[in-house]
Amino acid sequence: MADEHEHDHPEQDETAEQQVVGELPDVSKGTARPITVFGNPVLHREVATVTAFDGELAALIDDMFVSMYAADGVGLAANQIGVDLKVFVYDCPDDEGVRHVGHVVNPVLEELPAGRRALDDSPEGCLSVPTAYMELARPDFAAVTGQDKDGNPVRVEGTGFFARCLQHETDHLYGYLYIDRLSKRDRKDALRQMSEGTPKYATVPND
Ligand SMILES: [Zn+2]
Repeated sequence: MADEHEHDHPEQDETAEQQVVGELPDVSKGTARPITVFGNPVLHREVATVTAFDGELAALIDDMFVSMYAADGVGLAANQIGVDLKVFVYDCPDDEGVRHVGHVVNPVLEELPAGRRALDDSPEGCLSVPTAYMELARPDFAAVTGQDKDGNPVRVEGTGFFARCLQHETDHLYGYLYIDRLSKRDRKDALRQMSEGTPKYATVPND
């Protein structure tokens, strides 16, 4: 997911004493890969379940973190670097300023209890729909279950902007972009914004 705040608060990372939930990746291990964009088939279908929890998966996660940081993203799904596997990574603040960092393999979004369906209609962006931002109403709470890179069960929950990120990244792995959840008119507007902008990071050209 693209950081909707980056243009308004370019110095936000320099605020001191930020609380971090999760483990920061060792970015020296990964390599940045170009980002797939709207129209690439790998973004528009459900990708494969991970069954091998090995060094290759760990290396993929390292590359995903580095690719996400290179593109100034706050979340990245494996199909956004062209890999047909259900994994996403995130380094994303919530609305209380807590920084959440981690990965989820084979994520499944939990059904929300009826009392937790408050909607938040903040702007949303996606590295695979470069330079476009549109408001999208989503539940302001989300919980995802899945596995870590070693195959251990994990559950990650979040509120606010981080809840948006968890939903956005899980959607990717089932073949949905956030623009697929917009009205026809807003979707068209997002694609127009994309066609008029130039991404600040390397992308995979569509044929
Ligand atoms: Zn995205």
